[in-house]
Amino acid sequence: MNIHEYQAKKLLAGFGVAVPQGGVAYTVPEAETIANELGGPVWVVKAQIHAGGRGKGGGVKVVKSIDEVRDTVDNMLGMTLVTHQTGPDGKEVKRVYIEEGCDIAHELYLSLLIDRATSTITIMASTEGGMDIEEVAEKTPDKIHKISIDPAIGIQPYHARQLAFKLGLEGKQVGSAVKLLLSIYKAFTGLDASLVEINPLVVTGAGDVIALDAKMNFDDNALFRHKDIEELRDEDEEDPMELEAARHDLSYIKLDGNIGCMVNGAGLAMGTMDIIKLYGGDPANFLDVGGGATKERVTTAFKLILSDPNVEGILVNIFGGIMRCDVIAEGVVAAAREVSLNVPLVVRLEGTNVEMGKKILAESGLPIVSADDLGDAAEKVVKAVKEAA
Ligand code: ADP
Ligand code: MG
Repeated sequence: MNIHEYQAKKLLAGFGVAVPQGGVAYTVPEAETIANELGGPVWVVKAQIHAGGRGKGGGVKVVKSIDEVRDTVDNMLGMTLVTHQTGPDGKEVKRVYIEEGCDIAHELYLSLLIDRATSTITIMASTEGGMDIEEVAEKTPDKIHKISIDPAIGIQPYHARQLAFKLGLEGKQVGSAVKLLLSIYKAFTGLDASLVEINPLVVTGAGDVIALDAKMNFDDNALFRHKDIEELRDEDEEDPMELEAARHDLSYIKLDGNIGCMVNGAGLAMGTMDIIKLYGGDPANFLDVGGGATKERVTTAFKLILSDPNVEGILVNIFGGIMRCDVIAEGVVAAAREVSLNVPLVVRLEGTNVEMGKKILAESGLPIVSADDLGDAAEKVVKAVKEAA
């Protein structure tokens, strides 16, 4: 799960991480009140969307009077902000963050993430802050410094000092950076984050080290113990179809192709997408209906797939292990009737009661194409979609 910059800053501040003062606004008068409270003389108006690159896209503006705050917020609220992370359609700005202007001496980069390969928390830092870190990693990898922290031991002050020195900090800056690193590590583990990215981390003219931007992702599997974080979810920022799927316990991820997939089991769903590609097609989604898919869930899954206007054909690939193929077949037939299916449907069933399942499909009177194995199914659905086009 992702949250907004202002929410991340508030959480981090709770752990002692230094951040600029600021407040979130949904309207111009709210923004004005916050700006007056902050006092100026410089404010920064920042669009709150779940994407980076806002600065370059016009979503971060430095202003020097209350009038300017008002005008900037008025322009920014409701605008569609396009950045390299939003995709070409951009995102509508519905909230803005009004923050005190910071006297920036240097911009650095800092992130914490889970490294599954070594089962550690990796802290990554660079002197090249404010830039696209992927680009830094590619062009000047020697400018990225990494340390791995064993979570059983946790971060030690010497880790933090080491990083501070690698970043070329000196004097008062070192102490400030060490405090920030120790606090941010505590926030990362305490909140079950999967990513914290501070880009830029800045050294101010006065020698303080503070988080000027903040991005946090959380492990969904740990949200049950962080109800307060779950409440920060902004549904406007999430794909409506993925939200609907989550409500029905379906794992659905929308993709760019035109062949809708309904599969049980994440591994089989991945395999199905691969094999569609192999036969020259493009999957429209990843959809795992789970092990105990009922008729209702199959119907919901069908509706979800069909609500995507790009879908021109559907491949159902179900292995009846815990589930029986005849139950699945009944579900597919009922769902196809209910949603008045108007694209080709190829069904591949395997496992318990497969013959009974195939019979139900064949006798349904619906134009369902039955397939014998996964290759056959992929070939048939790709062909059907091409013919229908
Ligand atoms: P994004 O990563 O989405 O572009 P940032 O929060 O990193 O957004 O802001 C982009 C740039 O704007 C920063 O690199 C920094 O130079 C400037 N900036 C952001 N917040 C402030 C602030 N409070 N004071 C001064 N400059 C800021
Ligand atoms: Mg940034």
